Amino acid sequence: MQDFENPSRARTDFDAHFRIVHPDGTTKFVYGTGHPVFNASGDVGEFVGSVMDVTDRKRAEEERERLRQAQADLAHVNRVTTMGELTASLAHEVNQPIAAAVTNANTCVRWLTRDRPDLEEAREAATRIVKDGTRAAEIIKRIRLLFQKGTPERELVDVNEVIREMIVLLDGEAARYAVSVRAELAADLPQVMGDRVQLQQVFMNLMLNSIEAMKDVDTTRELAVKSQPAENERILLSVSDTGVGLPPQYADQIFNAFFTTKGQGTGMGLSISRTIVESHGGDLWATENPGRGATFHLTLPRGA
Ligand code: ADP
Repeated sequence: MQDFENPSRARTDFDAHFRIVHPDGTTKFVYGTGHPVFNASGDVGEFVGSVMDVTDRKRAEEERERLRQAQADLAHVNRVTTMGELTASLAHEVNQPIAAAVTNANTCVRWLTRDRPDLEEAREAATRIVKDGTRAAEIIKRIRLLFQKGTPERELVDVNEVIREMIVLLDGEAARYAVSVRAELAADLPQVMGDRVQLQQVFMNLMLNSIEAMKDVDTTRELAVKSQPAENERILLSVSDTGVGLPPQYADQIFNAFFTTKGQGTGMGLSISRTIVESHGGDLWATENPGRGATFHLTLPRGA
């Protein structure tokens, strides 16, 4: 009651926030405000004021803050956990050129230690080692790029190249679920002005979703990624699968943050992807395939 006694003594208006705990343990948040009314002798006779139950408002504020925080964290976490799941296939990816380098190094030693060393063969084997080493370094560089949290960078990007890189990166994941991947990339595709890492993330999200949608189907599992020039100075891209198809009745909600039909899903992949595509001046939408599965389409404006 200190809040009441203080203004009573100080003879000032007051306002205060209270927390009331009911016997059953529930809590109510209350906001009170009032001012003192003096009697003829100048003493505080009574307080006039009001008391409001602000429990709902308080809860909504807390909820909003929680969501904002969760959204900020998830944007990063989503990318990192996706990468976490991919570690096995990436390890395989890096291992290949390293294994090739070891084989080529052995070959090189053999040519050199013959009775009559064959320098030409040895030189060729050494050249292949340089290539293998460079390839391993490139893969590591790509993985690093994906983990970066940095600020978006705009540059002219060849989307076909982004798609090809993602196909290589997801090769292990596709193989694990017996998914065949097909690319139909237009040779005359104009470049776009954009953030390469973000565009990689969009394709990674869409392609991983497609692979996941096909995990449990018994028929052909085919992932097709296409690119083509389109009207109005745009390019048109699509990621198409033969999976379970969009969730019936919820097709219009899949782009909402936190909407997921997966036990371990975050429901952030599509919402982040759409945000990225729109920040590039493009559009991202989904359609049901006439046969089976779903197609995700995106447009991007071509770079100046
Ligand atoms: P998450 O993958 O964590 O669930 P997303 O935002 O990437 O989050 O996807 C939201 C939902 O959209 C998925 O849970 C799924 O129901 C649906 N979805 C996404 N991609 C596909 C797809 N290729 N085929 C069918 N449904 C999909």
